[in-house]
Amino acid sequence: MRLIPAPAGSGIVFRRTDLDNYEIPANGRNVARVSYATSLMRQGVLISTTEHLLSALIGLGVDNVIIEIDNLEVPILDGSARPYVEAIIETGTKQQRRKREYLRILKPVEVREGPEVGGKFIGVYPGDGYSIDYSIDFPAPIGHETFIGDLEAGAYRDLIAPARTFGFREDEAMLRNMGLIRGATDDCAIIIGKGAVQNGPLRFDDEFVRHKVLDLIGDLALAGRRIWGRVVAERAGHAMHTALVQRLLRDRSAWELATRSAPDAAELEQEEKTSSALRMLRPSHA
Ligand SMILES: [Zn+2]
Repeated sequence: MRLIPAPAGSGIVFRRTDLDNYEIPANGRNVARVSYATSLMRQGVLISTTEHLLSALIGLGVDNVIIEIDNLEVPILDGSARPYVEAIIETGTKQQRRKREYLRILKPVEVREGPEVGGKFIGVYPGDGYSIDYSIDFPAPIGHETFIGDLEAGAYRDLIAPARTFGFREDEAMLRNMGLIRGATDDCAIIIGKGAVQNGPLRFDDEFVRHKVLDLIGDLALAGRRIWGRVVAERAGHAMHTALVQRLLRDRSAWELATRSAPDAAELEQEEKTSSALRMLRPSHA
């Protein structure tokens, strides 16, 4: 996999180098299959597990980039966005002259599933930065966790990127059968079994909810533009995240494209350097 710079306004685009450079833009129109991970599909061509890489890009303020990949699965690496973040920071990003266009939220858009209390919920509201308020409820040892933060404050790299995905030992056989965690091992996820973390220590006491925030940022990247607003999620997941994106994009009265005063869009710089930085990202199971 290789990230290469793209002109202002082009967005984030996956390019399957094994299929004649077929391109799949990372946007809500191409959301395909969503369960334990988010996949994009365009005319039958698939890119799976897009969320951690997209999260890293949004977290670091990268708006325009081409992601060249020679197979259908974005590498899971250590189950977090940290390896991507480190490689992108090492390579550097470039500020583009054109002002970033935000998707500025004008009125609430919400998606609910299940009962009013205790069900799944996600909503997006008008707000100043890009704030996220996420709550989860899982069986022990996770329990109830809440994380509140603002992406515009610039703490993504330290507070969100290192948080790893997690899975329950009981689900492993099923997930493997569905082809969803091909080669998943203790190295690429927090494994929970018998009410305890099997491969500690955790990177944060509340690593689970931080990972949900990481996923949410990656899934909301499919709105095609950076969100300018406030997001609230309770017990949500990829399906709810992407349902929100689709509902939001459909409701043309709920948002506008807007720029802020200072230019802030970034693009990747120096193709050569990028490719060497990302060479280390090849997963061991590929
Ligand atoms: Zn994830």
